[in-house]
Amino acid sequence: MEFPIEFPKCPQCGSKDTVCRQACENEPSVPKGTFVSLEKRLTPIQDFSKISTPTTRVLMRHYDTCAKCGLDRCTRVEKTTMPSDILMKMMGMTPQTPHRR
Ligand SMILES: [Zn+2]
Repeated sequence: MEFPIEFPKCPQCGSKDTVCRQACENEPSVPKGTFVSLEKRLTPIQDFSKISTPTTRVLMRHYDTCAKCGLDRCTRVEKTTMPSDILMKMMGMTPQTPHRR
């Protein structure tokens, strides 16, 4: 399976338009063709108890709302990495900082 996995069409009405894409259409700070989404959810795909690396592999799921029928749907799933300590804080965990002396 190749990442990113994209779901360009709404499963309900087949529209490709999403609320966020519509909203960003005339936004000068967002370059044309940039993938935008309303909501991003992160899921680590590494075992937390075995994370000793400064970065963690995560799946980032993008969610948006269909501009035509209003369905909340997943638009894209990508594999990415992010700093482990930030990720743990986001998930309400205390990062174990190694003691350096
Ligand atoms: Zn739709």
